[in-house]
Amino acid sequence: MSPVDDCVEFLQRLIRTHSMPGEEGEIAALVAAEMERLGYDQVRTDEAGNVIGLVRGSGDAPSVMFNTHLDHVDAGDPADWPHDPFGGEVHDGMVWGRGAVDIKGPLAAQVHGVAALIESGDRPAGDVYVTGVVQEEVGGLGARYMAETLRPDLTLVGEPSRNEVRRGHRGRVELVVHVRGRMAHASMTRIGRNPLTVVGRLLSALDDIDRPDHPELGRATIAPTLIRTDQTSANVIPGEVYLTLDCRTVPSQSAESLRDDLLPLLQAGEIEGTSGEILIPRHERVSYAGYEMTYPADNPAHAIASDHPALTTAVETLTPALGHEPPVDVWQFATDGGHFAEAGMVVVGFGPGDDRLAHTVNEHIPISELEIGLRGNEALAREWPARYAALRA
Ligand SMILES: [Zn+2]
Repeated sequence: MSPVDDCVEFLQRLIRTHSMPGEEGEIAALVAAEMERLGYDQVRTDEAGNVIGLVRGSGDAPSVMFNTHLDHVDAGDPADWPHDPFGGEVHDGMVWGRGAVDIKGPLAAQVHGVAALIESGDRPAGDVYVTGVVQEEVGGLGARYMAETLRPDLTLVGEPSRNEVRRGHRGRVELVVHVRGRMAHASMTRIGRNPLTVVGRLLSALDDIDRPDHPELGRATIAPTLIRTDQTSANVIPGEVYLTLDCRTVPSQSAESLRDDLLPLLQAGEIEGTSGEILIPRHERVSYAGYEMTYPADNPAHAIASDHPALTTAVETLTPALGHEPPVDVWQFATDGGHFAEAGMVVVGFGPGDDRLAHTVNEHIPISELEIGLRGNEALAREWPARYAALRA
């Protein structure tokens, strides 16, 4: 079997293995078994349930981690898909299914790309790790754990980038505005204190808030997404309202700084007898391996400078492997790279797959694109760390 066919077959098995967040046990075992079959020097799962494969370097070049995740988002109604979301079917040279792009295609291209180096009989100059972490889609339990326990010199995040290079993304913070008023019969508006009025004022004031503009990542945004009250009856003025804000952040912002910016706007809209607060939700998660973690709804932004040696040497390494110089851009969405960068790690992005198909019912990846991703990952495993070290010396 050709290396590409072998990779496609692995991708099909990955797609056929359901792996919603918290249910990655089976796929973790599958990835670990594949790494062992391909000749990785060491394969293990950590306490959180992340899979870690290691190919030992022959010299003292910097270590590099190739990273993707094991989980995927819900497929929705299979009837809405042109092909079975968990079939891993191949049609017209494309592999179809949930995760084909986000993230099982890029995962297969990393596991097999690094294996191509082993297969060639060469050794990387420094240690090469390939990791698949749990629960990326729900706030990054696996990456948060890994950022504390594994410290490679370079990190390559394989989220789909159409085989271009990515150097960061905006972060994502969730805030919940909570306003308490006074419940009353809806016919007696003078007795009630309607918290929806206060929320309405805040919503119209959001347009005027200063949204920092980052030269590379673009403008920070705030989108109201969910609203609920303590009422199910249509003829009652509610006593409480909860409004969720999805905030896309730039590196200068945090959940706390956003809360401090928004609180005066909320307070300015209050009416006599109401009180408002802004909460930063905390998620309590347990991994399939039984590891528990509680963390805020805060996934940091990150951006590596355009002249950073890790970025320029990644582009240099990829250019001959891809046959052209890959464009460098930023991702629209947040990734686990934010957790790694926040922990001080050097993060660059590269992966096959069209990110615009992620989380859709049309998720599929051309085998030709997977093949380019394989070549790119092999070249990065082979040359990137040494080039990086040489430029820094
Ligand atoms: Zn992803």
